[in-house]
Amino acid sequence: MSTQMIAIHLPDGSVREVPAGTTPLDIANSISPRLAAVSVVARLTPVEATEETKATEEESSSDAAMYAAETGAAARLVDLSTPLTEDTRLALLKETDAEALKVVRHSAAHVMATAVLELFPETKLGHGPATDQGFFYDFYRETPFTPDDLTAIQAKMAEVIARDEKFVRESTLREDALAEFEQDGDFMKTHFVTKFTHPGDQVSFYRNGSFVDFCRGPHVPSTGRVKAVKVTNLAGAYWLGDEKNPQLQRVYGTAFFSQKEMDAHFARLEEAAKRDHRVLGKQLDLFSIQDLAGPGLIFWHPKGGLIRKIMEDWMREECIRRGYSMVFTPHVMRRELWKTSGHAGFYADNMFTPIKLDDAEYQLKPMNCPGHILIYKNSPKSYRDLPVRLAELGNVYRYERSGTMHGLLRVRGFTQDDAHIFCTPGQIEDEVVACIEFAEAVLTTFGFKEFKVELSTWDPKDRAHYAGSDENWALAEGSLKRALERKGIAFRTIPGEAAFYGPKIDVKLVDVLGRLWQLSTVQFDFNLPARFELEYVGEDGERHQPVMVHRALFGSVERFFGVLIEHYAGAFPLWLAPVQVGLVPISEKHHEYAKSVKAELEAAGFRVEMDDRNEKMNGKIRDFANQKVPYILVMGDKEAEARAVSVRTRGKGDGGSMSVGDFVAKAGALANGRSMEL
Ligand SMILES: [Zn+2]
Ligand SMILES: [Zn+2]
Repeated sequence: MSTQMIAIHLPDGSVREVPAGTTPLDIANSISPRLAAVSVVARLTPVEATEETKATEEESSSDAAMYAAETGAAARLVDLSTPLTEDTRLALLKETDAEALKVVRHSAAHVMATAVLELFPETKLGHGPATDQGFFYDFYRETPFTPDDLTAIQAKMAEVIARDEKFVRESTLREDALAEFEQDGDFMKTHFVTKFTHPGDQVSFYRNGSFVDFCRGPHVPSTGRVKAVKVTNLAGAYWLGDEKNPQLQRVYGTAFFSQKEMDAHFARLEEAAKRDHRVLGKQLDLFSIQDLAGPGLIFWHPKGGLIRKIMEDWMREECIRRGYSMVFTPHVMRRELWKTSGHAGFYADNMFTPIKLDDAEYQLKPMNCPGHILIYKNSPKSYRDLPVRLAELGNVYRYERSGTMHGLLRVRGFTQDDAHIFCTPGQIEDEVVACIEFAEAVLTTFGFKEFKVELSTWDPKDRAHYAGSDENWALAEGSLKRALERKGIAFRTIPGEAAFYGPKIDVKLVDVLGRLWQLSTVQFDFNLPARFELEYVGEDGERHQPVMVHRALFGSVERFFGVLIEHYAGAFPLWLAPVQVGLVPISEKHHEYAKSVKAELEAAGFRVEMDDRNEKMNGKIRDFANQKVPYILVMGDKEAEARAVSVRTRGKGDGGSMSVGDFVAKAGALANGRSMEL
């Protein structure tokens, strides 16, 4: 071993000179044994990199990332026991780090394979990557696993973890490894080595106890660090997705650094299943998708339709208040229009097949933009007319492959709360600020407290892929960025993620379960104004091309409704609830009184339903409660005499009786104020 010294740059800015061959674990120990004990894996970043870049989700979960040799040029995760050989930045990741979770899950896959081979030695191994929800391992065995086998695998995994075996990296000449795999009939391992390594390479293996797996790593230091693991389910999968190949058994599991985190994960899944908008949509009779009509096409039932009306009324009024003009454009237009816009080319895969009519081909619209552009173009514009803000709750139709549709979230026909803003370059920053403020109003009004903002910018090195001039891009990206900064909104910049026709801001809301949903978008477009030769006459008397922005805030009314259903678990706030008040007369002799209360409430603007069935009071209360009605008013002799109602509030139970007038005042204030209190 040479005595060459290398420089290790730590996150606090300090630099340590250590002999080459020192490991991240050595460095952790030299800082404090405590730090060494809680570290899971290390991230190395080349010193010349300006900031620590993380591999994207896609990169880190792909097969290539599991097997291909490291390039050394980008940030990468390594075992704590990896000898460091050159100057590098080093970060020690702890259990709380999101990237460490993937490492423990992949390590759990090795534990699973260890257990399977101990129980069923004839099994051949595929591979075992981490996923967003856990991990899986592909196995080949003539006899399929049974549920009892899975229980045995889970128990054996606990033994492997208790043995706390170190994950040790070894390397072998590729050709030697291949020879051994071929001799053992390990057809899947042979495939992975052949595909992801090159002749003459050293290939890496990981050993724990007597188990060895071809893998690039990294892993947690030892099996004992997999502190909570659960085998969840089993699915069949053909090797390489080809049904002519042997059928593999994909065993799924999930792993965490603690039992507490795992319990929270399963509680979250259970809660999400209870909130599934497809289930609640049926249970609350909000919407349906009909076989006879076709997949991905939504039928809004009276109760869902009512919520939609409230959403749309709010949106239209806000648009008008904020200086938008409401327009309507046809659902189907000549295909020539879509050739001019370019959609017939670059968007062809997402469009319905054209419809042949007597004179020409017609196209069901996948977007509202060309329609709004035709309205803009219909009369000459001067700088005094700008900004022109055209808004429409426009139905669009997009082709989604059969089998990919999902409730209200992924559909073939939906309604965009779409608007296009045409303005001068000098106006754009204020316009973007106004869009962001409008987006914030949507989120807070509909009861979301948290959101995340992303700014997608271009990759100037890939110039050929983008429409618009360098000045266009500088202006657009600058105004998006400055608008966010003016609003004091934290955002993440994603370079190279912009559409070819312009940069954009995406707003993702965070729902009550912490899930992210992509909704609002503010998107620049340098392509359409040029294709349609849009103009305005400037102050200088010359013709100029306006700046064009697409923006949608709900995104899709259908999708937003789906998110609302899941966010509220169907218990909509009072102002959105399709039935706000359920009336329960105790017996038939109270029907007359209940009817008079109904009339009074309806006159005050409430949506009221009265249950006059010949049922027990408790049954009627239960039915309204199951429909998640915010207020249930019970009426018997006492109430009729005092012109009062006995009030049950959703989530709070029986609140005693109050006069009808007091109820109207109290509930009216909540509903009219769009309160989130109920
Ligand atoms: Zn591995
Ligand atoms: Zn558009």
